[in-house]
Amino acid sequence: MTDALLKVCRPCDRYTLKATCPSCGAPTRTPHPARYDASDRYGAYRRRLLAEAAPRTQGA
Ligand SMILES: [Zn+2]
Repeated sequence: MTDALLKVCRPCDRYTLKATCPSCGAPTRTPHPARYDASDRYGAYRRRLLAEAAPRTQGA
């Protein structure tokens, strides 16, 4: 099954077709699993959790 072509770099909030971000080189993800939503009430918690879980993988 083919995945979506469009990928997103979370740190840059940038969309691309590449597997890695052209700007920062971080691995991109499909936008589907965790949609970005401006009204994301739990975004702050999720980002804090991610930062605490993997402080070295958040990159530039
Ligand atoms: Zn990036």
